[in-house]
Amino acid sequence: MRKFTERRLLVATHNAGKLAEMRALLAPYGVEVAGAAETGLAEPVETEDNFVGNARIKARAAMEATGLPVLADDSGICVDALGGAPGVYTADWAETGEGRDFGMAMERTWRALEDADAPAPRLAQFRCTLVLMWPDGHDEVFEGVLPGQIVWPPRGAEGHGYDPIFRPEGHQQTLGEMTAEMKNSLSHRALAVARMIEAAFA
Ligand code: IMP
Repeated sequence: MRKFTERRLLVATHNAGKLAEMRALLAPYGVEVAGAAETGLAEPVETEDNFVGNARIKARAAMEATGLPVLADDSGICVDALGGAPGVYTADWAETGEGRDFGMAMERTWRALEDADAPAPRLAQFRCTLVLMWPDGHDEVFEGVLPGQIVWPPRGAEGHGYDPIFRPEGHQQTLGEMTAEMKNSLSHRALAVARMIEAAFA
């Protein structure tokens, strides 16, 4: 495991929420965090069929464009009774041709479970894969998994994406009903970041 001793880190995301989360988590380690949107980077096409592959595409594109060390993430929800779908296609299930509609994506997920006659509990996991890549192309991979189940109808207006239909194991609330602070204490992304900090920054 290579230790991260650089001063600057580029987070290859255009999502302001993810960037703010990374900045806050890395602040104690004296790392200056820049975002992909701030540096004018384009978003590469994610052509792989797995999370690590797509996170590596994002990391490599940003690293080659800037020469900086990069952190990229790929995430999604995997539903057991759907053979792991939507998985890497989680964002695609929300695509309308005119932007993303997560109400539609959540309904599609529930409808697929109904069509499959899937019994309760309808187990699922949120997964997050982080790729930390150095300018010489070396990388380290970290994963976080949040187990839970799909509920219907959607509950809560917090969070984003599929949060209102996902209830983490051991909790009564969906992610959509939790405060950002609560979600960030248990989420797949927080877990992956904690693993990375422990292994490469601490
Ligand atoms: P990407 O990792 O940005 O390519 O997209 C992953 C997709 O997974 C997002 O567009 C969301 O729909 C979904 N997703 C990832 N993490 C979460 C989460 O914490 N809550 C809800 N949806 C999520």
